[in-house]
Amino acid sequence: MLEMSRPDLKSRLRQQEVFLLDGAMGTQLFARGVALGTCSDALNLESPEIVAEIHRAYLQAGSDAVITNTFGANRYALARHGHADKARQITQAGAELARQAAGDDKYVLGDIGPTGDFLEPLGSLKADELREAFAAQARGLLAGGVDGFIVETMTALDELAAAIEAVKSVRSGLPVLASMSFDKVANGYRTMMGVDVTSAVAKMVALGADAVGFNCGTATLEEYVALAQQYMAAARATGQDVIVFAEPNAGKPELADGEAVYKVAPDEFATAAERIRAGGVRVIGGCCGTAPAFIEAVAKRLK
Ligand SMILES: [Zn+2]
Repeated sequence: MLEMSRPDLKSRLRQQEVFLLDGAMGTQLFARGVALGTCSDALNLESPEIVAEIHRAYLQAGSDAVITNTFGANRYALARHGHADKARQITQAGAELARQAAGDDKYVLGDIGPTGDFLEPLGSLKADELREAFAAQARGLLAGGVDGFIVETMTALDELAAAIEAVKSVRSGLPVLASMSFDKVANGYRTMMGVDVTSAVAKMVALGADAVGFNCGTATLEEYVALAQQYMAAARATGQDVIVFAEPNAGKPELADGEAVYKVAPDEFATAAERIRAGGVRVIGGCCGTAPAFIEAVAKRLK
């Protein structure tokens, strides 16, 4: 048998008492002087050292896995920056950067985010072309050496399905984590497209996702803790042994000069993470506004 320096990601996710993902990439890029409106994904080719530095900072802070800088590296999102034909290069380079930083001991998740458009008839996307775009992204990530995939920040079930099916279609055998973005509404939580937690989890499980979660959104920390509990309940209701993960933002964004600003401190975030862990969620990271100091605070508290 082949000697591997790290157990496969799925068993680690299932067995490790607390498995830490990383924090935000986008807000960390801006913090390092990348201008708003820049194609973040193209930085994998144009400024790889900035991306690598962020990966290393999260690993030093205690992340067990880092997520590739390929959130918008599908050809629809890349087309808005004139890079539609570079999906393969950008995704592979993104995976290689994260792999180099993570070495043999830590894990790399290949990031697949939404296109920013909708499937027909609501939008202009055609289902087969959309699946092919996500599959191209998955192939690039796989070639760059990822340990698994994360389909994240989805708001529509049909686009979520297209992304998970596309990842499955490349037959890597690697696990896929699936995540949608929720906002707090009067009677619970909904994605921008009106999907509730129960429907999201049921769909992810039906599509064969290995872990189900939530990331981003506009909730407060308090509301993310409650959302995590709803996720656990929805996962149990499927009757299967489903892994749940949580990647809240650094609290509710406030607008300052048209920019989203996050004011929660690492310690407050760690307190929320502790409560999320107490509710049974063992795989935890952060989304927008979180930084290496947030992951470090969570690691100190939970590990
Ligand atoms: Zn986010």
